[in-house]
Amino acid sequence: MEGNEEQTTIMLKKLDDMVKFAQLQTCRRQYLMQYFDESFPDSCGSCDVCLSEIKKFDGTLIAQKALSAVARLKESFGNTYVIDFLRGSKREKIREEHKQLKTYGVGADIHRADWFRYIRELVTLGYLQATDNEYPVLKLTEKSDAVLKGQQKVELTASQTMGEREQVIVPFEAALLNELKLLRTDMATNANVPPYLIVSDATLVEMATYLPHSMDELRLIPGFGDIKLVRYGRDFLGLVKKYCSNNGLESRMKKRIDKPIRKTSSKPATSKHRSSDTRTESFKMYRSGKSVKDIAAERGLASTTIESHLSYFVLTGEMDVLEIVKEEKIPAIKDAVESYGFEKLSPLKEVLGEDYSYGEIKAVISWMNKAV
Ligand SMILES: [Zn+2]
Repeated sequence: MEGNEEQTTIMLKKLDDMVKFAQLQTCRRQYLMQYFDESFPDSCGSCDVCLSEIKKFDGTLIAQKALSAVARLKESFGNTYVIDFLRGSKREKIREEHKQLKTYGVGADIHRADWFRYIRELVTLGYLQATDNEYPVLKLTEKSDAVLKGQQKVELTASQTMGEREQVIVPFEAALLNELKLLRTDMATNANVPPYLIVSDATLVEMATYLPHSMDELRLIPGFGDIKLVRYGRDFLGLVKKYCSNNGLESRMKKRIDKPIRKTSSKPATSKHRSSDTRTESFKMYRSGKSVKDIAAERGLASTTIESHLSYFVLTGEMDVLEIVKEEKIPAIKDAVESYGFEKLSPLKEVLGEDYSYGEIKAVISWMNKAV
C-alpha cells in the first residue's frame, strides 16, 4: 500500500496469517476459530489436516545439517543456494571456497524438493528465519544454537509423496468408455445439446473405472446430481451392467470410496440420506397446506432452501412447476436456461435479476428436465 505505512503493516500481518494457515499442520478449523477469537478445544476430525494423518519423524539431524550450512555460509545466502550447497551441487554458481567446506554435500541423500519443504518448515518452527527483502537470506535465530549443540530435538513432517505412491491406481475399461461415449453422443443428439452438457469426459472415465451397479452407486460418481440421475442414469447404468455381465466384472465402487477424495469424505451415504429426508419433510409440510414461508419459518430455513427442496419433486413429477413459479415468470427463466445452460445457477440469477429467486430458477430447470 504505497504511501500508507500503517495499512501496509496490517496487510502484511494478514498475508502472514494466510501463509501460516496454508502451511498449517494442525487442525484448520481450530486455527480459524482462534482467528475469530473463539475457542475450539479439539481437532475437528474433518478438515484436510485432520483427515490426512501427517506423519512426523525425528528430523534433528536434517535440521542440524541445514542450520550448520547457514552458519558456514555466514548467513548470507537464500534457500536455493543453501540447498544446492547442502546437496553438493557441481554447478558453477557454488563458489569454489564453499566447495572446500566440510558441510558441502552433507545433504546429498535428500531430494531437492524435500529440502525446500524442510527449510520452509524450519522457518515456520522458528529455527531459521528468512529476511524480508526482495532476495530473502536465511539467518539463524535464538532457537538455532540449542539444535546445533544437540540440546533440542526437531520434529519434521514426513514427505507426503511416500504415502501417495502406495495408492492403488485402478485402470478404466477402455472398451466400456468407448461405448459410454457413443451413448452420450446419442443422448446429446436426441436432446439437441453438446455432449459435454450431458456429462463430462471425467464422469465417463469414473463410470468406466468404478463400474457402478445401482442408482445409489451412480449417485456417488461426481457429475451425477439429481437432475442428471433421473434423466440419464438408467441408460448409463444399463450399459455399464451389460458390459460387466458380458465380461464377468463387478462393481468397483468400494475402491472409489476408499480413495481420499474430499467430496465423498467419510460418510457419503448418511449425508445423502439426510438431504433426501429434509426434502421429504418440506414436501410433506407443503402438501399439508402450509406455504413456503410458513415451512421456512417453522423449519428455521431460508425460503429459497424450501423452494429448492420442492423443486426436486417437480423433477420427479410429484409436483407441478406452477405450484412454485408463477406462469408468467416461466418463459424468462426458460429463455435464460436455454441460452446459458443449467450447469451453474449464479449466471442465471445474474441475468434474471432480483425478481427471480434461486428456488424458482431451480424449479423451472427441474420442470425442463423432468423425466418424460
Ligand atoms: Zn481439523
